[in-house]
Amino acid sequence: MLKENLEAVESKIQAACHSCGRSRDEVTLIAVSKTKPVETLKEAHDLGVRIFGENKVQELSDKHDLLPQDIHWHMIGHLQRNKVKYIIDKVDLIHSVDSLRLAEAIEKEAAKRDLVANVLLEVNVAKEESKFGLMPEEVFEFIDKIAGFSHIQVKGLMTIAPFVDNPEENRPIFARLRKLSVDIAEKNVDNITMSILSMGMTNDYQVAIEEGATMVRVGTGIFGARDYAQV
Ligand SMILES: *Cc1c(COP(=O)(O)O)cnc(C)c1O
Repeated sequence: MLKENLEAVESKIQAACHSCGRSRDEVTLIAVSKTKPVETLKEAHDLGVRIFGENKVQELSDKHDLLPQDIHWHMIGHLQRNKVKYIIDKVDLIHSVDSLRLAEAIEKEAAKRDLVANVLLEVNVAKEESKFGLMPEEVFEFIDKIAGFSHIQVKGLMTIAPFVDNPEENRPIFARLRKLSVDIAEKNVDNITMSILSMGMTNDYQVAIEEGATMVRVGTGIFGARDYAQV
């Protein structure tokens, strides 16, 4: 099941890359393993998966300690300031920086450990009230402030698109995030690069790739539906 799912996702990624003339190696697949038991992640690891995404600090931290150390962990969910310390040295990338106060907490914790934290700025492109993220018009001011944080490297932008029946409906959202990243990159700000665009989930990752995604976050498509009653 897991093997077939992974193969199906891989071939859809390849098809999407092919359809827009991009190279497969421009797109990184993040296996979103939230709510799934450690045994399932082990199975995925045996099948070659090395990049996992989690959205809860405790769960990420527990799984990190139980699974092989060659795994790269990505924090993709909303992060509370007081929990930064539990994951800062366990993750490759925090996708969800959505406030200056969180950025300050990351800066402080990273400085304490003498490391540089790689982060993405989460942008609420669709302006959904239920979602976290900076408003698109806030991002430039935010960039100017975060540029002074020497223990944070901003690598790009992330968005969570709305849940829609037809993934084509999200194409303008992805295009807008891409445009924003190009506009930011043109400003050449210290500590800011725009090499990563994290967008696209199970329902819409192919469209996201066509619009420039360099990281897609796929959970259900790999691991099947989540059972929240179990966690
Ligand atoms: C759960 C989650 C995903 C994966 O969602 P699927 O629809 O299961 O692929 C991607 N990104 C974030 C931020 C998530 O919380």
